[in-house]
Amino acid sequence: MEIKTIAIIGGGIGGLASAVLLSRKGYQVTIYDKAKAPQPVGAGFLLQPPGQNILSELGVMDEIAKHAVPILGLQSETLSGRSILNLKYDRLKGTPRNGLGVQRSTIYEALLGEASKSDLVKIVWDSNVEKCTTCDKKVSIVVNQAVHHYDLCLLSSGSNSPLAEEHFKRRIKKTYGWGCLWTTFELPKNLSPNILHQRCKNTSKMMGILPVRRAGDKYEAALYWSMKSSDIEKFEEHKFAVLKDEIMQFWPSASSSLEPLSYSDFIAANYNDIWTPKPFNNRLIAIGDISHATSPQLGQGCTMALLDAWSLAACINKNDKDLTASLESWWNSRRTQLAYVRLLSRVLTPLFQSESRMCEVFRDWIMAPVGRLPLFDNMQLKTLASEVYLTNKD
Ligand SMILES: Cc1cc2nc3c(=O)[nH]c(=O)nc-3n(C[C@H](O)[C@H](O)[C@H](O)COP(=O)(O)OP(=O)(O)OC[C@H]3O[C@@H](n4cnc5c(N)ncnc54)[C@H](O)[C@@H]3O)c2cc1C
Repeated sequence: MEIKTIAIIGGGIGGLASAVLLSRKGYQVTIYDKAKAPQPVGAGFLLQPPGQNILSELGVMDEIAKHAVPILGLQSETLSGRSILNLKYDRLKGTPRNGLGVQRSTIYEALLGEASKSDLVKIVWDSNVEKCTTCDKKVSIVVNQAVHHYDLCLLSSGSNSPLAEEHFKRRIKKTYGWGCLWTTFELPKNLSPNILHQRCKNTSKMMGILPVRRAGDKYEAALYWSMKSSDIEKFEEHKFAVLKDEIMQFWPSASSSLEPLSYSDFIAANYNDIWTPKPFNNRLIAIGDISHATSPQLGQGCTMALLDAWSLAACINKNDKDLTASLESWWNSRRTQLAYVRLLSRVLTPLFQSESRMCEVFRDWIMAPVGRLPLFDNMQLKTLASEVYLTNKD
């Protein structure tokens, strides 16, 4: 069965990376994105070593590295200064590696630039895909009241997209009931630019500061202020002064960097738990957050979307005699790692975002000391670095 044309719904991180990889294998790729024009927006994030390796293979890592910040470790502590986590990538055995603090826009622009170089990639903006249907030989997609046909279709439209619902009946989608307000600001002078800093009060208050961009001798950082979804919904401009005051008292040494921030600088995000037991169906395949979103505490989502794209491009072939077998082989290479990340996310998120006193006691008095034992320290580090159950990219 010959595959020539592929539609990609959603030109985010997973969609753009897939377009570059698939066009390099000779497929004609059309990306549909609902954004009116390229939209280099989104939070800053921590990119793990396998994600960096894929971006290197795609030829965009040098451009990204010009602006991104090497992250050597993660330090999480309570307000009273008790250490919860102190993970340093250099304790991992083997080739030295680190995380990368990077703005989503930096990765997005680099991938978009690479995709745009190929004659085989077409990007159609302002295209909110409403529906996809599959039959034996084709996938039809409906966009702006027109129907288009392709040999294959990738859904990479992110965690809030409803497009997967009718195709994957066993897909699970729940909200965590928690999320965050995030912004970018100047990294406070007293904080190391190479560490993801986290501070917690009980399990109900948490703030993270992740350096994400170097500009001369200054650093920009992403700030995450954890909140219950119900409080995010009720959050309005007139309440901002109170919140800002609370954030400044929470992290007094960051006050001078926080001072210039206003209500409109903050963006709300809610966290979803999504799992698709078998994310392919005939000629439709779901990758990235639409298939398996987690809470971003573990800093894995972007790396997982890149690994999905990499592995899928490696598994499918133009003259695939048995496409289903190829897709099964793709999913076999991804399923265990993704299930592991999801399980950890479900177990660990309440230790940082809940109102449970038991979770706090477990985190501070059991998980923190046990995590410092060499075996567990190594396991935590390998998990952070996306290396547990990694099968397709080292
Ligand atoms: C606050 C926050 C912090 C995060 N921190 C980290 C981190 O530290 N490390 C990390 O690895 N990950 C992090 N993530 C997660 C990461 O952003 C996602 O996992 C990653 O972007 C998923 O990529 P994706 O390609 O699946 O979807 P996205 O990058 O979300 O792209 C989806 C695209 O689909 C388009 N689209 C949606 N619906 C349609 C439609 N119907 N038709 C056409 N186009 C459509 C959208 O416009 C968008 O361009 C964080 C997320 C949040 C919210």
